[in-house]
Amino acid sequence: MKGVCILGATGSVGVNTLDVIRLNIESYSVVALSANKNIDRLLEQCIEFKPCYASIPDATLAEEFRKKVECSDASATKVLSGIDSLEILSSLDSVDIVVAAIVGAAGLLSSLAAAKVGKTLLLANKESLVISGNLLLEAVNDSGATLLPLDSEHNALFQCMPQGYRVGQTAKGIRKIILTASGGPFLNTPYEELANVTVEQACNHPKWSMGRKISVDSATMMNKGLEAIEASYLFNLPASSIDVLVHPQSIIHSMVDYVDGSILAQLGNPDMRTPIAHALAWPQRHDSGVCALDFIVNNKLSFQPPSYETFPCLGLAFRALEEKGTAPAILNAANEIAVNAFLARRIGFLDIPKLIEKTMSASTIVAADSIDTVLMADAESRELTTHLLAEI
Ligand code: NDP
Repeated sequence: MKGVCILGATGSVGVNTLDVIRLNIESYSVVALSANKNIDRLLEQCIEFKPCYASIPDATLAEEFRKKVECSDASATKVLSGIDSLEILSSLDSVDIVVAAIVGAAGLLSSLAAAKVGKTLLLANKESLVISGNLLLEAVNDSGATLLPLDSEHNALFQCMPQGYRVGQTAKGIRKIILTASGGPFLNTPYEELANVTVEQACNHPKWSMGRKISVDSATMMNKGLEAIEASYLFNLPASSIDVLVHPQSIIHSMVDYVDGSILAQLGNPDMRTPIAHALAWPQRHDSGVCALDFIVNNKLSFQPPSYETFPCLGLAFRALEEKGTAPAILNAANEIAVNAFLARRIGFLDIPKLIEKTMSASTIVAADSIDTVLMADAESRELTTHLLAEI
């Protein structure tokens, strides 16, 4: 039995992870769960899975949650609070697998803590890699941790890598990797009409059911840009070896193009339970609850290049990848502030790339050689974007 800690258990990835665990309950013991605000869902999860620990960073909310836990069937679950509680959970001796499913930079330190103590880290929190890819991979290498990507594209690429491949290496014989993109809800929307799209439209992804932040990132195609940065670190490849290809059906989840002309692809129904089950069971396989792909129903796969004019966020992410250093951390923080402002209906959809571009152009990039440096870049970028936001 493997001990599992799920950070961000109440979100879309967290809930999907528990669905897969429920199907294979003989193989896993849920040791720890965390949430931010959704204490009702966390309580339901604690009652069902009886973890030893549950964490809510905010002390007041944690106290309210603790009282609910004490009067429930989950009374043996110990409730922790405080920002460092996430790092404590991801470092517990009884935890073998840490599922990093917190959204945004808030997931950085707990992902890093899991890597430092040599856990098997199932990484959905792409922002950790974007902000501090070198530092996270260094921690994985130093401790002998295992890093497995949960993001469907990177999980697909990992599955298409040569036998024995470990994340962080440059695999031999690769010409490039091809990240597929659904194109999001606005793939066929003219640029001018994007100015007036609503939060509801932006969050209504045609293929994937996800949290609100990543849904907006998919709508702006910043998600694909963040994934390009993530892929660059995971597979140790430069921007020039990473292509983005729009594939609206989301059946091919990404491809590796080898020098002999072979292209290996991973296919399946668009359902996060597949990459989650793959990474949980790796190097074996077990059930995910996802039905087999029907080629007769899905008999048309189409492809087109992405439009960098309609989706400037994609180009901004590649610019950050080329600039290196703290540029990806600056990009990510500006994006988080801009997306939150859009979700709060303070700015329009097209203001998102404008704010990010202004922040990037006004920021100084330095080498991302320590966690303090990237955290500083993150904080300064948030402050600057918030300031620029007031001018809109
Ligand atoms: P959700 O918004 O659905 O869930 C986020 C989780 O993180 C929730 O449990 C939330 O708690 C918790 N959380 C939010 N803010 C904080 C914070 N400040 N401190 C601690 N916990 C926090 O996100 P998703 O599940 O969609 O995405 C999670 C990550 O996985 C993201 O990085 C995303 O890019 C990545 N990803 C997601 C995919 C998907 O299909 N959803 C696919 C590939 C990658 P609460 O519920 O209490 O607010």
